[in-house]
Amino acid sequence: MSETIRIAVLVENSVHRQGLVAEHGLCFHVQSGEHSLLFDTGQTDLAVINAETLRLPLDRTEAVVLSHGHYDHTGGVTAILDVVPEARIYLHPAAFKNKFSHHSGQSRSIGMSDCVAQTIRQRAGGFIQTTCQTKIFEGVFATGEIPRSNAYEDTGGAFFLDAAGTQLDPMTDDQALVIDLGCSVVLLLGCAHSGVVNTLEHVRHLTGGKPVRAVIGGLHLGAASEKRIQQTITRLRDTHLELLAPTHCTGWPATAKLWSAFPDICLPAGVGTVFEFKRD
Ligand SMILES: [Zn+2]
Ligand SMILES: [Zn+2]
Repeated sequence: MSETIRIAVLVENSVHRQGLVAEHGLCFHVQSGEHSLLFDTGQTDLAVINAETLRLPLDRTEAVVLSHGHYDHTGGVTAILDVVPEARIYLHPAAFKNKFSHHSGQSRSIGMSDCVAQTIRQRAGGFIQTTCQTKIFEGVFATGEIPRSNAYEDTGGAFFLDAAGTQLDPMTDDQALVIDLGCSVVLLLGCAHSGVVNTLEHVRHLTGGKPVRAVIGGLHLGAASEKRIQQTITRLRDTHLELLAPTHCTGWPATAKLWSAFPDICLPAGVGTVFEFKRD
């Protein structure tokens, strides 16, 4: 009998089921046979609360993979490690850097909190650095750093390493999670600050060109030019996806364009949504 991969949304900006709670953030629970992991952790302890409501046994989580260092993806680390202290933690070292966004002349700190950084750095088991492709367990890997191979995708916003806004944050910590189904793969995105097209290109390179069956997560296209959105739609069309779930930070105008370009394969992915895939 073929194995089922189950992806449950524990934190997202929207919610579709009674008893669950949303926040600006992202956290996926991925179960593959006896193995399970969390991809991102949301902004607060909400992942733990929603997991209890959904009766998902977080204490069996063996790995926590962080897509990048922003607060809405890393803020739940401490609460999750309270439940499952022995989980392995995977992140790119640049995720620890100070991170700021600039809007209307205002600077805002949006990086990992000191408390979370300290929790990760001071754990007895340490953490695993994902500068390059890193296997989490059989059939699941983190992409590591994603090369920026096209000219039209930027990090998606005014992101800086300092409050004064003098040093651009290249977001080298950004990575995606790949679930290998055998003949095809599923791609989970945090915020895709590297660009979803760059991410797809890197995954094509890492998997020897395996078809990507599904893309689920944030595409961070809120500030994207029309040209970038159209190039993204063209690349997604060439990818022949069976499922596209643009969530979290994708932005409403871009989300509307993606839904209108791919009406038959787009699905919402609010808290409580579960996606299932069979390993080929
Ligand atoms: Zn985010
Ligand atoms: Zn982000």
